[in-house]
Amino acid sequence: MKLLIMGAPGAGKGTQATALAERYGVPAISTGDIFRYNIKNQTPLGVKVKAIIDAGEYVPDDVTEEIVASRLAEPDCEQGFLLDGFPRTMHQVHFLDRYLAERSAPLDAVVSLMVQPEALVQRLLARAEIEGRADDNEDTIRRRMEVYAGQTAPLLFHYENKGLLVDVDGTGTVDEVRQRMFDLVDAHVKA
Ligand code: ADP
Repeated sequence: MKLLIMGAPGAGKGTQATALAERYGVPAISTGDIFRYNIKNQTPLGVKVKAIIDAGEYVPDDVTEEIVASRLAEPDCEQGFLLDGFPRTMHQVHFLDRYLAERSAPLDAVVSLMVQPEALVQRLLARAEIEGRADDNEDTIRRRMEVYAGQTAPLLFHYENKGLLVDVDGTGTVDEVRQRMFDLVDAHVKA
């Protein structure tokens, strides 16, 4: 199974990505988590991307694509993977299309988690209290929403045109959303 999960900041991508990856027995690969790990450990990559991420902007495509390519080359991705937070730009979409075409390894589904914008900000501010992520403050949240709406939301059309999109309503409890997502993805991959 080769899956993507997309959604605005605060849509619950990370949480549902973990559940979905477990269900299909594939690794969940979160570019955001990879960047945060590198920032925490002050690696050269972390030092390079910290200010960008703290400002709510996207890390440059070449940097992000190289990280994803090397992660996908690891043995645990041979049977499939779930990408969480990649691709986020049209450049990254084309990069991934090319990468998978060269390996004759097409995607099975692209999950889109949809939540109303007003609910997103509330969720992120609540998460800020719990997790203390440096990019979960009001200004950065607003910027991340704008960047998502401008650069990432339009990518859904690309996958819709390919017949890969699975739209999931992300409102409700974590358990409700998970069950809804499982049902829709199961139906999509069996069809
Ligand atoms: P969220 O979806 O809540 O914004 P993520 O953990 O997915 O959280 O991403 C956090 C930040 O990491 C993003 O705001 C961005 O700065 C950076 N990032 C993650 N994935 C990518 C990507 N594919 N391209 C560019 N930047 C990325």
